[in-house]
Amino acid sequence: MKILVINAGSSSLKYQLIDMDTEAVMAKGLCERIGIDGHLKHSPLVGGKPVYDEDIALPTHAEAIAAVIDKLTGAEYGVVASMKEIDAVGHRVVHGGEKFACSVKIDDEVMAALEECTPFAPLHNPANITGINACREVMGDVPMVAVFDTAFHQTMPGKAFMYAVPYDYYKNDGIRRYGFHGTSHRYVSARCAELMGKPIEELKIVSCHMGNGSSLAAIDGGKCVDTSMGFTPLVGLPMGTRCGDLDAGVIQFIMNKYGMNIDEMLNVLNKKSGVLGVSGVSSDFRDLDSAASQGNDRAQLALDMFHYWVAKVAGSYVAAMNGVDAIIFTAGVGENSKSSRKAIAEYFGYLGVTIDEEANSKRGEDIMISTPDSKVKVFVIPTNEELVIARDTKEICC
Ligand code: AMP
Repeated sequence: MKILVINAGSSSLKYQLIDMDTEAVMAKGLCERIGIDGHLKHSPLVGGKPVYDEDIALPTHAEAIAAVIDKLTGAEYGVVASMKEIDAVGHRVVHGGEKFACSVKIDDEVMAALEECTPFAPLHNPANITGINACREVMGDVPMVAVFDTAFHQTMPGKAFMYAVPYDYYKNDGIRRYGFHGTSHRYVSARCAELMGKPIEELKIVSCHMGNGSSLAAIDGGKCVDTSMGFTPLVGLPMGTRCGDLDAGVIQFIMNKYGMNIDEMLNVLNKKSGVLGVSGVSSDFRDLDSAASQGNDRAQLALDMFHYWVAKVAGSYVAAMNGVDAIIFTAGVGENSKSSRKAIAEYFGYLGVTIDEEANSKRGEDIMISTPDSKVKVFVIPTNEELVIARDTKEICC
């Protein structure tokens, strides 16, 4: 059985074709500049076929999907003989609001409900919907599933997801913490339980997804009980370019002083803040590491702030769960930066965490980086959101 996983952005579309008998990726690729001019990079991973990496006209998402199908099935770059071999399609959808606590098979009713969630994610959901419509147009009756970034966090109790603003904003407008990166937190926590050889129902886990966007999740017995992103992905930790938690009074002060409107302000908070804003160097942690090692104090400050915030939020989750068995690092920074992992783990001495330096130096594999006698286990687990999407799609459709 073969499943196509689609992650559609406003002008981009990422895909993977996964053979679910082996869970191996057969081909992956990225359409860029959709609606502008167009570029497609398609990498077949089986059959020794060459990579296709060319400018190609992609006026709409439907044309992008058609180009992807053409590459997946064509003689030169293809990995399947025809579209008939693609059994189902799994779509990443950013926001499912309170309507979707798990993945669902897509039909007209689901499409209408997705539209209703659009005000919560005005940049992302329309792009996801466009991607789904394009696929339905090009692929006809092939069954499709929507997998939501927010769904895993729907188990949070009211005390964790409510904001302390008048209750009517929640009741009438859905203003609450939703959380994001749910597919990633779900994957790594399940994998952590496997690696520990224990049922996830018996574990308390803090999952640290640290990439360009970062969030932590407290996972008690396999259920999310708190997470650091909120109504939008802007809050929680300082991120690559996003500010994380911020006193709303700062917004009023800056807008008044510099005559900014709310869109300009949000642009600063989303795109010019975080470790980029503090360091003035880069949003990329590799650049920050290198600048800090050459004595750049603001790069060091940005790194210190990030590590401090991860440790501080993780500590609050240990309190929320009344304990912790395992801490997981994942995503770009979590999987690759041994210096960030080390700096964060140093805050966990009070939990009896000790790090195995040699294990912490390895990359690209699921690995326990705490010493065998460490009271709390620490893992690096490369995330795999596409595989979760494919597994859900298989379970629901096939
Ligand atoms: P993601 O959003 O998960 O794709 O993560 C992307 C981020 O991971 C980049 O912006 C970098 O900051 C970070 N990253 C990737 N490789 C490394 C590395 N070797 N060391 C430190 N940070 C890294």
